[in-house]
Amino acid sequence: MTSPTDTVPALGRLPGRAGALLAELGDRAELHDLYDEAGSAVYHDITASDTHEVRELVALVRQSTGPVLELAAGSGRLTLPLLATGRHVTALELSPGMLAALDERLASAPVRLRERCTPVRGDMSRFDLGQRFGAIVLGTTSVSLLDAPGRAGLFAAVREHLAPGGRFLISTVDDALPGNGVEGEDGEGPGSDENVYELAGASGRVYRMHEYWPSGATTRKVTVFPGDTDGAQDGPVPVFTSSIAIVPADLLIDETTVAGLSLVARHPLPTGGARHRDVLLEMEVTA
Ligand code: SAH
Repeated sequence: MTSPTDTVPALGRLPGRAGALLAELGDRAELHDLYDEAGSAVYHDITASDTHEVRELVALVRQSTGPVLELAAGSGRLTLPLLATGRHVTALELSPGMLAALDERLASAPVRLRERCTPVRGDMSRFDLGQRFGAIVLGTTSVSLLDAPGRAGLFAAVREHLAPGGRFLISTVDDALPGNGVEGEDGEGPGSDENVYELAGASGRVYRMHEYWPSGATTRKVTVFPGDTDGAQDGPVPVFTSSIAIVPADLLIDETTVAGLSLVARHPLPTGGARHRDVLLEMEVTA
């Protein structure tokens, strides 16, 4: 079974250039899980205006009827557009920091949306809500946060929570391109083992995100540094990290088949990273 700590193996041992940067910071570095309380605020800042998957998910949810269950809802990036379809949304999330950020977002949303949302603290790899849903959504390729037993638990729980005719919508990596053994600096391109992206948050703060992903590795490591560590002279420097499994679509489809779910359609997504394409899988309970 997956416990919260399974998502952050080896905090403190970062590979590649991110590891070197962390070592350079020495005692000043304050290492966090990307989804802990401080991490939730940074995650929210970076993704607040990110719209990827929203259009595709909303279009598919509209084809279903009844209440919606959103898994790993985070700070509500997908929850608000789902509520805007007019449906009731149960937003399940493990991290109290993320749930607090979601509450804040809901508090400033129109009442007609807010009143249709039920945030729930729970683990997507084992939940029992005593209710069935017309659509269950797990977006943002967040299935990658679970190990194989965690995914088996997730699919079993999804099967128990889908109403007749209901749809399970889950995004994952479709296609992973190989790295080339190079620890890339910015813009060194699709083949690098480590890519660095500069990101601007909604607050105006700038971050540098390292994505370390050697060819053939089954996990990639994402680490977020403040954009200005070079300029800052002293004081603590918060660094946020998460280990993300690679769960290719074909593996996911095999696992869901065993769990009694069948593929209805593969919807390619226009997004991904330098090294991969994403896909939205539409599934139903096997007849
Ligand atoms: N869907 C949101 C959040 C994606 S980030 C968005 O698009 O912005 C992934 C989220 O999964 C984080 O909020 C993290 O706290 C949550 N999470 C990680 N493991 C989980 C688990 N086992 N059960 C439920 N949520 C989990």
